[in-house]
Amino acid sequence: MAPTPHELIREGGVLCRADRVVAVGRADGMDAAGAQRIDLGDALILPGFVNAHTHLELSALAGRLAPTCDFPGWICSLRAHVTRWSLDELRASILRGVREIAAAGVTGIGNITARPETDAALFVGHSRATDDYAFCDSGGRRIHWRCFCELLGLREEEAEGLLEKTLLRQSLIDSFWPRAAFGLAPHAPYSVSPKLLRRCFEVADAKQIAITIHAAETREEERFCLLGDGALFDMVREFGALPDEWRPPRKRPLEYLAEMGLGRSPALVAHANYANDDEIRWMAAHDISVAFCPTSHQFFDHAPYPLRQMLAAGVNVCVATDSLASSTTLDPLEAVRLAAPLCPELPAADWIAMITTNAARALNMKCEIAPSYEPRRLDSLDHGEGSQSRSSGENPGRNAGAGFNVFSLERSCNHPLDALLRGDARLLSPESWQT
Ligand SMILES: [Zn+2]
Repeated sequence: MAPTPHELIREGGVLCRADRVVAVGRADGMDAAGAQRIDLGDALILPGFVNAHTHLELSALAGRLAPTCDFPGWICSLRAHVTRWSLDELRASILRGVREIAAAGVTGIGNITARPETDAALFVGHSRATDDYAFCDSGGRRIHWRCFCELLGLREEEAEGLLEKTLLRQSLIDSFWPRAAFGLAPHAPYSVSPKLLRRCFEVADAKQIAITIHAAETREEERFCLLGDGALFDMVREFGALPDEWRPPRKRPLEYLAEMGLGRSPALVAHANYANDDEIRWMAAHDISVAFCPTSHQFFDHAPYPLRQMLAAGVNVCVATDSLASSTTLDPLEAVRLAAPLCPELPAADWIAMITTNAARALNMKCEIAPSYEPRRLDSLDHGEGSQSRSSGENPGRNAGAGFNVFSLERSCNHPLDALLRGDARLLSPESWQT
């Protein structure tokens, strides 16, 4: 068992009492009178995975958009689908994503929500606060959420209003979930005005709110910021989102964001595909975590990811999936497997850290084999708004297994994390090993 990826305890075990993990260590040293012993055989127990960057509301777009190098074209197709969705369709889309991440052993998530209706679709009647974290359980798993509310707007005069509206979403989320769940997500340097960027970084710093932003994702974004032209510029102008007085910052995206206040407090940058060495060093020095999304990277056929440079500089890198609109999976382990050839010399524990401890650090969450909470069932989410009274479905007799994953090892190996990375390990559902 590995309480964290860099700490392997052979012949290890976890002692649970009621719904809590109370001890972790060598199984033979654990002696609890009356405890039921479950022998998992050749198995690996690991912390639950954390997918630090995704957009679950786009899950219904799985397989609908073809891989492309045309990023602005992809945004247009995405918008064409999403703006037509009813609240029910949006809810179904989110649910599909929730089920998929739960089945992949994800117990922590940094989810970006663009539409305020999403909050209601997700939360009302289906989750409740705990002391530490928000959660939403699915199939016996609890998922800790960092709910990043997206802000978009290039018009300076709308900045305050947009921020205010978003902070109001915080109160809605707070009324269902604890404060810790809320985060700000100014979308990207090409879609948010300088004033709004400044205010977001300022407020995040002053109120200790988590913040994330897409940045240095494409060459078009660089062009937009440096020169104020190119395909992304054309797209933004065609949307009618660009004010007449707009002028390009004439800086590279991360340099521009630093000027706007990125780095005042810890932040998570999604992608950073085109960050240069200076920017990478700057991010390391300013506690900026980076979410590398290998499946999405492949979808857009980006230039090779500067992973080695990031790790050498000491950037906290996590591996995430982005949404099913540009990824074939929401499973962070699959994303890690796709990325592994990029740095074959990197130990398996370092790769697994990118979807557990590093990702948790990026979201300011815990990631360890942690205390679990009373289990509840999420299937009530299927019933829609009329069935809130049935939403709890308590099942107190069993430990939900949240916080950790159990993998059965398909063949014997020296180091179980190598087997995990190679694909020689199968994730067991909590139900299968608890009975
Ligand atoms: Zn994204």
